[in-house]
Amino acid sequence: MQVLESNAGHPRAEARLGGSDADRGDWIAHKFGGSSLADASCVRRVGRLLEQLSGQRQVIVVSAMGGVTDALLALTHSAAGRDPGWPAAFSQLRDRHLRACNELLAEAAEESNAWLVLQFAQLEAMLQAIAVLGVAGREALEHIQGLGECYSAQLLCAHLRSGEQSVDCLDAREVLVVGDGDLGVTVDWEQTGSRLAEWRLQHDAPRVVVTGFIARDAAGRPTILGRNGSDFSGAIFAALFEAGELHIWTDVDGILSADPRLVPEAVPLPSLSYHEAFELAYFGARVIHPQTLTPVLARNVPVLIRNTFNPDFPGTRITADSRPSAAPVKALTLCAQMAMLNVEGAAMIGVPGTAQRVFDALRRADISVVMITQGSSEQSICCIVREAESARAQSALQAAFEPELQRGQIQAVTLATGLSVLAAVGDGMAGTPGVAARLFGALAHARVNVRAIAQGGSERNISVAIESRDAERALRAAHASFWLSPQTISIGVIGSGKVAAALLGQLTDAIPRLRRDSRLDLRIRGLCNSRAMVLDALGANAGDAVGRLRESTLACDLEQFAAHVHTDHLPHAIIIDCSASDEVASHYATWLGNGIHVVTPNKQAGAGPLHRYQEIREASDHSGARFRYEATVGAGLPVIQTLRDLIDTGDVLQSIEGVFSGTLAWLFNRFDGSRPFSELVREALDLGYTEPDPRDDLSGTDVARKLVILAREAGLPVSIGEVEVESLVPEALAGATSAQFMQRLAEADAAMNARLERARRNGQVLRYVARLDSQGAASVGLAEVGPEHAFANLRLTDNIVQFTTRRYSGNPLVVQGPGAGPDVTAAGVFADLLRVSAALGARL
Ligand code: ADP
Ligand code: ASP
Ligand code: MG
Repeated sequence: MQVLESNAGHPRAEARLGGSDADRGDWIAHKFGGSSLADASCVRRVGRLLEQLSGQRQVIVVSAMGGVTDALLALTHSAAGRDPGWPAAFSQLRDRHLRACNELLAEAAEESNAWLVLQFAQLEAMLQAIAVLGVAGREALEHIQGLGECYSAQLLCAHLRSGEQSVDCLDAREVLVVGDGDLGVTVDWEQTGSRLAEWRLQHDAPRVVVTGFIARDAAGRPTILGRNGSDFSGAIFAALFEAGELHIWTDVDGILSADPRLVPEAVPLPSLSYHEAFELAYFGARVIHPQTLTPVLARNVPVLIRNTFNPDFPGTRITADSRPSAAPVKALTLCAQMAMLNVEGAAMIGVPGTAQRVFDALRRADISVVMITQGSSEQSICCIVREAESARAQSALQAAFEPELQRGQIQAVTLATGLSVLAAVGDGMAGTPGVAARLFGALAHARVNVRAIAQGGSERNISVAIESRDAERALRAAHASFWLSPQTISIGVIGSGKVAAALLGQLTDAIPRLRRDSRLDLRIRGLCNSRAMVLDALGANAGDAVGRLRESTLACDLEQFAAHVHTDHLPHAIIIDCSASDEVASHYATWLGNGIHVVTPNKQAGAGPLHRYQEIREASDHSGARFRYEATVGAGLPVIQTLRDLIDTGDVLQSIEGVFSGTLAWLFNRFDGSRPFSELVREALDLGYTEPDPRDDLSGTDVARKLVILAREAGLPVSIGEVEVESLVPEALAGATSAQFMQRLAEADAAMNARLERARRNGQVLRYVARLDSQGAASVGLAEVGPEHAFANLRLTDNIVQFTTRRYSGNPLVVQGPGAGPDVTAAGVFADLLRVSAALGARL
């Protein structure tokens, strides 16, 4: 056997086939994948495309029609397994080819038809023999697997010839000689070159159609280049013909920033370096075969990945050095069905040669290692291998370390399956700090546990091993974190009242803008109220969602709702509770514990039982999921955020005072004695400023709840029972129906007037005020304030909150403005949602 050159080799000068020196480089190599050749109309499209690329000589490497290689493999296995279904599958495959042939060639189909019939008769005979033997040897498997390329090449060639073009058809097995090397298939360039030169003496057409994927071995037997191997064939023939470029035609717009089936937002990459493309291919970007680049690399032949179905799109250009991109990471890949082997034991510490023994054992067992990590303590060596080879790998290591295992110097060779390797690739990663941090931050936010990490010395690739069930979520989270796609957030909204409706409206308006300007992709994927739910992508029609909820017959189940929102394939989930329900609030801790962020204007959690509030906080601290409720106090006003900022920056709270109820603010702004208080209440009710039962406002409970929320935010463990509340509902009317209450409210007017009179005599006005001191003493009730006081000068339904702190002692920090109404409340909720999004990495 001849000595084979390494993969990086290239054809010798004498193997050049482009003709004279003057012709060098005017060949262009084109490779068409199975998806580009799926049926007659696809083949016709390819023909047109080649014709339009006039002025070049073309070496055209083809794959089998889409799915044919899989079908041939399955056929061989089922014949070997004597599965009675194989003849039917065989007929189907033959008919598919005959149909394509007739459709494509019409009257001119006869010759190709006869050829196909003969080929399939031979295949049938082979399958019958295999069925008799009950086993298919490697040679038979490789031979049969490669037939699809012969069929498709014949069809394309005949089609091009029917256009009266001069085309030659080359069965690669006639010329391409390969061997088995340590790093995979190696090309015997010398033999191949001279065989091809000989063939070209008889075949000098300016177009040559070549079968991809197949070759012959040194003994002359048919063999294959590995799955997806026709990309490799394309590169080999590009090198042999000294083509100026290699165009790999497929069904996507080039190499994308991630597998588009897993990340639909993936974007095509205009350019890549050979190194980047190589890393991507090796780590599972199925769009090109890992060895594709080796034959063209040495000769600097640009490789273009292009879309047969969108030929005007420039696609991806792969060259020695690519345009640097703004982002350090260009693309991400995912390799599934991996397993992790761990060799662990004190005996390895400081003992030279342990790693070598590990890899030697794996090499001898012919197992390729995808990833290696060793902690600097040298306590363990971990390698990631393909799951299919993992049991064999474990046995090989157990055998290699048998003595140490027996002596207990190595505890175990453990195996974990069900893993995937996620890799981030980009030349720009080298020397850029923070890339790993961003990747791991994104994975942490998406609650993905990292099992092992590797970064190559080239810094072009960071790989992490993760559980396969987390893989898709991890990929999307990482993809978004490098701003390769928008940050995607799955949202569920609870409630069908005014706030929910306003929020949905605001979201509908903002979603396209956020997507465009802030790379934030908010997906409303569920809506429910106490009665029903809609579990669906509500998308841009969020405004209609309320209507859909009304019609929904699916009973609300909050657990099911949360599970739907918290889907595995989206990295982040947020539940927005716009209800006023205590029952909903009782789910927060579980949701937060599971990593679902919660945003709400519902006061139940913040002001409800202290132990529940503490559980919610603990769950949030533990999982990192955020709990935000700015809109519970002062609607859209930044009250809680201001308090947080004061405390977080080290200020010390002395007191909080304020008017927290828009309704009560409005009532006392108006109450000047000219009209009875009861009449003002009725007007407020008519204007929609009060709750349906105004006692809910007048009782002061709502104000007390807000005060509890602020107290807790300030770190004071206050409960609602500890707040001293002055109710404005006369005791005698507390138990009345709401109609009776409205009728009899005038009974309290006299007492109210007396209060007002007293205040006036002191030159003051009445306000319903909430107060908290630094010790947690909390009260809400009527207070007299002077005309200069900020509380005396509120407009309409304004809320006001005054923070007196060590820094703001003489002159308190004031937050004031409209503090009620669905629109401003929804805006407060929306602002919380955006804050959570920003914390998750959105560019806001
Ligand atoms: P062909 O039949 O043309 O050889 P393949 O199916 O082998 O096509 O490869 C193209 C497919 O690779 C695309 O349709 C896409 O689904 C998948 N793919 C996986 N990762 C990537 C990626 N990063 N960029 C582009 N395509 C990818
Ligand atoms: N037809 C072969 C396969 O399916 C080769 C290729 O398409 O590249 O793997
Ligand atoms: Mg392919």
